[in-house]
Amino acid sequence: MTPPIDPRETRDRLSRRHWPVTPIRSELQVSFEFFPPKTRHGWNTLIDTALDLQPLEPSFVSVTYGAGGSTRQPTLRTIETLNAAFDMPVAGHLTGVGGTEDDVHRLIDRYVEIGVERIVALRGDDPEVLESQPPRGYQSAESLVRAIRARPDGARFDISVAGYPEVHPKAESARADIESLKRKVDAGADRVITQFFYDNDAFLRFHDRARSAGITVPIVAGIMPVHDFARTVSFAAKCNASIPAWMHELLGGLDDAPEIRQMIAATVAAEQCRELVEHGIRGFHFYTLNRAGLSGAVVRMLGIRPRSAAADIDGQPGEGWSSVS
Ligand SMILES: Cc1cc2nc3c(=O)[nH]c(=O)nc-3n(C[C@H](O)[C@H](O)[C@H](O)COP(=O)(O)OP(=O)(O)OC[C@H]3O[C@@H](n4cnc5c(N)ncnc54)[C@H](O)[C@@H]3O)c2cc1C
Repeated sequence: MTPPIDPRETRDRLSRRHWPVTPIRSELQVSFEFFPPKTRHGWNTLIDTALDLQPLEPSFVSVTYGAGGSTRQPTLRTIETLNAAFDMPVAGHLTGVGGTEDDVHRLIDRYVEIGVERIVALRGDDPEVLESQPPRGYQSAESLVRAIRARPDGARFDISVAGYPEVHPKAESARADIESLKRKVDAGADRVITQFFYDNDAFLRFHDRARSAGITVPIVAGIMPVHDFARTVSFAAKCNASIPAWMHELLGGLDDAPEIRQMIAATVAAEQCRELVEHGIRGFHFYTLNRAGLSGAVVRMLGIRPRSAAADIDGQPGEGWSSVS
């Protein structure tokens, strides 16, 4: 006969179970990336997203800059709005190509005027523009970073640059790619934010290569939770980001089952981050696609809870990055 279940024993067993991530709260850094909205609906969505993510106290939120300088005004407007209305540091993306050197510095001046001193410095690319026009502006992120640091106010900026765990599509080799990354860090970057990836082994190998090459600044993992699998696959192909076969099995064919897809997508991204935390990675940059749900859920699964929730649980005002455990 099956013995009766002892409720105390069940309680004890349950209390010993925990999400197997033991984040070191003060060490984890998260940031969220947005793009400039094009429509009123898009604006409302972005504002709602920022409202939802703000309590998670990101290190910063960043706003992308359209290829070839195509979103100069919308990017500025978005940065201005976020910077004025929210209590989160804002970083402006900035591309070296697509405008003249003067254009680039005018934009930096404007960032400074509105109090934005964080820059994600990129070469940027718009194949059509780049191929049809003579080269202008800064032709590499390295020269852009150097130019920012050479300004009279150059020391004030916090500069991030892009890294490519699975190698930039145009790089001659993985080695050349790391050498290029080293040059742009040496030019004055404070951190590397990576292209999104789903293959943690590829990221960890990249991380090792970068450290072996003498790159010592923080390397922040670029995480893009899957909102729409078909679009993710097509975007990944352009960026040289591989999609492991198991992701096709888990997330393929769920177009008509959005709730299930979301739950799986959140689990996949949380598991990805959890494994990276176990390998010592402490910085995560979320490509939010201007939506709060998945990125916010994953950040919570990393053990970061909003200030208000911290207050509820502790019975006292929240103190920012509080531990769940
Ligand atoms: C976190 C992140 C944010 C991004 N945000 C934006 C954005 O807001 N707007 C936008 O338009 N794009 C953005 N991009 C995309 C980026 O602009 C493209 O990937 C672009 O092709 C390269 O930009 P980069 O700054 O890495 O360039 P670079 O670092 O200058 O070069 C890219 C690659 O080219 C090769 N290379 C560089 N110099 C040389 C050389 N001298 N000889 C040989 N090979 C060389 C290297 O392999 C290098 O990795 C972003 C990418 C990331 C990862």
